[in-house]
Amino acid sequence: GRLPSPECVQTLIEETHEKFRTVNEGANADYIPALAGAPTELFGICLTETSGVVHEVGDTNTPFSIQSVSKPFVFALICQAIGEDAAREKLGANSTGLPFNSVLAIERSKDGTTNPMVNAGAIAAASLAPGGSAEEKWAFLRDGLSRFAGRTLELDLTVYESEMATNQRNQGIASLLGSYQKMYWDPAEATDIYTRQCSLNVTARDLSIMAATLANGGVNPVTGESVVDAIHCQHVLAVMVTAGLYENSGDWLYATGLPGKSGVSGGMITVAPGKGGLATFSSPLDEAGNSVRGQLTARHLSERLGLNLFASE
Ligand code: GLN
Repeated sequence: GRLPSPECVQTLIEETHEKFRTVNEGANADYIPALAGAPTELFGICLTETSGVVHEVGDTNTPFSIQSVSKPFVFALICQAIGEDAAREKLGANSTGLPFNSVLAIERSKDGTTNPMVNAGAIAAASLAPGGSAEEKWAFLRDGLSRFAGRTLELDLTVYESEMATNQRNQGIASLLGSYQKMYWDPAEATDIYTRQCSLNVTARDLSIMAATLANGGVNPVTGESVVDAIHCQHVLAVMVTAGLYENSGDWLYATGLPGKSGVSGGMITVAPGKGGLATFSSPLDEAGNSVRGQLTARHLSERLGLNLFASE
């Protein structure tokens, strides 16, 4: 089936915003000090159709750091750069069933790989960016993420410095990957590049266009630019299905039947292949680090718009 008319979709997302606006559960992430004080009442929903029509309601132009929602897009860029077989061999594609910053996940895997939706695999993915210096690698990632969004994304310096001062755990993960030959650049520099990647500011509108690009075979439906080949979108969505919401990915798939990806600043994307990209922003998180209102919104819209990939009609 197709999406209902643009008027119906707009009305539906407005109703959905109203329905979940007052939900008051969850808490901001506080292990990155700069995220702890974000206003919890902000709530935006944006849905971009693969036709390029954008629907918005609420706080869709408020900037926030992209955090882990960058991970699927960086994975797509790395698949495009080094090929999907090399990317899977070097990064892994199996879910860990463990929290996003798990060290145990590396120790328990057969070869030190995890998957590019959790920190270990994502830091390894950042280390694979083309370039002969950390600056070149960073420029490659920032440029690629910007093309997904259709505008130049800027670093949130406060968030970046706050996380760099407190990211000893990610530095440890990067070093440990080196002992398995699964770190592909200097671990300290790779962690720095990854932290910059996570500190890029986006809006819910940006994330929705980025998600719609994955839904649209790698062609940004607003700018018309081909960012990555369609085959890479398929691989990225497959890994998102099993690992996009970390240890809660099974519950998420049960509820929505769609690939999704969350981040600790409260952003979340949900991709309906061939149809569109949904993004939400709301900072309070559940225990696994996933936006509470974001999950409620995605579940409701998946049901109401008939987006579940496992439905027979
Ligand atoms: N930059 C954050 C970290 O590495 C991203 C985590 C997340 O969004 N889940 O801890």
